[in-house]
Amino acid sequence: MKFSPKEIETLSNEFESATPQEIVAWAVENFCPNLALSSSFQTQAVPLLHMVKERKPEMRIFFLDTGMHFWDTLFFREHLDQIWDLNIVDLRPDEKWRTLLRHFGSDLPDTDPNLCCYIRKVQPMQKAMAGLDAWITGIRRDQTENRAHAEILEYKRDGLLRIAPLLNWTGEDISNYISQNNLPRHPMPNTRYPSLGCKPCTRAIQLGENERAGRWTGKGKTECGLHTEMFDKKEFTENGFKLNLGEN
Ligand code: SF4
Repeated sequence: MKFSPKEIETLSNEFESATPQEIVAWAVENFCPNLALSSSFQTQAVPLLHMVKERKPEMRIFFLDTGMHFWDTLFFREHLDQIWDLNIVDLRPDEKWRTLLRHFGSDLPDTDPNLCCYIRKVQPMQKAMAGLDAWITGIRRDQTENRAHAEILEYKRDGLLRIAPLLNWTGEDISNYISQNNLPRHPMPNTRYPSLGCKPCTRAIQLGENERAGRWTGKGKTECGLHTEMFDKKEFTENGFKLNLGEN
């Protein structure tokens, strides 16, 4: 570890008053080339993509190619890649899940969304992060109860440092940054889809609903697992999680 847990705690507290650009600059200076950004390629992901592109254009950008995205998201990913020439790395489920996905893949978001997220998101990201020192993510405290308690710098599994430069931003900050820099927006309307994930697990929100109310409605979850204890599990079957593929 380049920084001790105590040093990280101190730096994280100092960064509470720093700009996201300053935090990205610190991350690049201290961890490149063993640093990557993960991105969902939705509208709210655009500011961080832009900041990283400006500071370190060759940085790897991990995109979880779950096979379940809206067409519009794939189009937007392609569009941003074309105009900014990003270094995107598509992450896909491990080969060992091939048979399971062939039989249950399209049902899994409904029968066992936790397993589905583990196979399609958490495990591919865990594998991609192996060997990296640090990971930049766009999570914000105003998004979920879980994220409200996050820190700007946090050590995760195996000493990986998670860096969240936008943690103190609001949805309005995101929108303002995009407007001020004249940046592109995802084609799906932000008023109805302010938070976009996989198609089976995203619905349009109603007026007055929380921006993530349309994620996993009725499925008993609010996070995919990248930012919960699931990310620290080496296997899905470790205590607390078990395979449940629903009724035959
Ligand atoms: S968001 Fe839904 S479809 Fe995507 S990986 Fe998770 S459960 Fe599966």
